[in-house]
Amino acid sequence: MRITRRTLLLGAGAGVASVLLASCTPEPAPTPTPTRTREPEPPPGVPAPAGSIRSTWTSDPFSLGAASFTPVGVLAGTRLALAKPVDDRLFFAGEATDEDAPGTVRGAIASGARAAEELLIPATSGERVAVVGAGLAGATAAALLAGGGMQVTVFEARDRVGGRVSSRVDDSWPVPVQLGAWLFGADDAEVLDQLSGGEVGIVDLAGDLWRTPDGDIDAVDPAPFEAAMAASQAAPEDSSVADALTAAGIDPADPGTAALLALLASRSGAGADELSSWFAPPLPTGDLTAARDDLTPFVEHALDGVRVGLNSPVALLAYDDTGVSVRLGTGEALSFDRVLVTVPLGVLQDRSIEFDPPLPFSNRGAVSALGMGAIETVWLRWDEPFWDNDEAIWHAVGADVAIPTWINLRAATGENVLVGIVGGPAAVEFAELDEDAALDAALASLALYT
Ligand SMILES: Cc1cc2nc3c(=O)[nH]c(=O)nc-3n(C[C@H](O)[C@H](O)[C@H](O)COP(=O)(O)OP(=O)(O)OC[C@H]3O[C@@H](n4cnc5c(N)ncnc54)[C@H](O)[C@@H]3O)c2cc1C
Repeated sequence: MRITRRTLLLGAGAGVASVLLASCTPEPAPTPTPTRTREPEPPPGVPAPAGSIRSTWTSDPFSLGAASFTPVGVLAGTRLALAKPVDDRLFFAGEATDEDAPGTVRGAIASGARAAEELLIPATSGERVAVVGAGLAGATAAALLAGGGMQVTVFEARDRVGGRVSSRVDDSWPVPVQLGAWLFGADDAEVLDQLSGGEVGIVDLAGDLWRTPDGDIDAVDPAPFEAAMAASQAAPEDSSVADALTAAGIDPADPGTAALLALLASRSGAGADELSSWFAPPLPTGDLTAARDDLTPFVEHALDGVRVGLNSPVALLAYDDTGVSVRLGTGEALSFDRVLVTVPLGVLQDRSIEFDPPLPFSNRGAVSALGMGAIETVWLRWDEPFWDNDEAIWHAVGADVAIPTWINLRAATGENVLVGIVGGPAAVEFAELDEDAALDAALASLALYT
């Protein structure tokens, strides 16, 4: 059964009055940028959109980046070190702790399940367990811990659950705006099953358009790129994706290769110079599917019956061999037997949560060794389309644009909505633009498609 956000909050309030009393956040709530008011000066052929919203993950205090990545030279096992429990009191989940699919929904869900299992081994029935963070990892873990007989309380810094799954439902938009995760590939069949079982509609995004300033070209063949990564993975030492390409005789600056690298950055959040070729995620080529509904009920469903304190940023975790004290940003402290931490890597790197005593070297070393990548997205809608193709995924080739990848939702949904995605250093640059400049840059990127 799906539950509404209202049901979740009422349910939470009934069980954790003390937590919810502490629910006035002392830190600024992250606010995705709403539709702007200034009339943009669109390039010729690109009319001003009727609405626009962009994400702000790079500066969001509760993520400080979009997705973890493995920088060049970082050892295998670093994510395992990040996930390693401390004294059977602190446990760690979150996409960054997943070895198989970091930076994804799949990895986040798997990490929550893995950490919950680890915690249940030393625990006895009825123990008080706190979960820090109500994203997919936290929600998955909380459900399993509650099912395993723990008394679970989830502390979430934001005024909503979902974390980097962030659907905005607004009457002025014909479809929910997905500011975080919403795209799935060939490896995500299990997640898609879970989503559709939870009544989240899925649409296929079929067809790619590879456009240069001089017209369309055939799809860029990913095979040489993939062969270069495979060759590098057989080498005795790790090298960056860019160096692995160069070693294979492929110029990373070649327009077609640069378009593939832009696609890789939109998935990994990292540039080719910084990303390990040994641990690079697969290129997101091939047909994609997208969630077309609000994803929030999916997360809320996992948290059904679990006590959740929103607006409750955790500031300090003080632990010893008897338990863990959780201190909130408000100063209030609560005692638990064990705590499962799911906050993003960026939050751990920023030391927004203090650990007393400090985490062991191996956990801390992993926090600083891994990278937190940047991905930003911009949603634009028009009353009438200005483009005349139905391909779902557009790639800019050999064009100097701020947003190189666009998703055209017209064929899949019938709505005149384009979604720009940018990752890596280009996403950091885009995030630094003010509202007017960001919209101008997005519209200028679309001039290729008029
Ligand atoms: C723009 C963007 C696009 C993406 N696209 C895709 C995609 O298409 N497909 C895909 O598979 N993946 C995608 N991802 C990645 C995916 O969203 C994440 O891997 C996944 O949602 C992470 O879940 P998580 O539970 O590990 O972390 P989060 O969802 O970040 O959850 C952690 C929670 O901890 C909370 N928190 C932080 N600090 C504190 C604190 N001090 N106290 C209490 N709570 C705190 C946060 O508010 C958050 O709710 C995308 C990510 C971004 C940013």
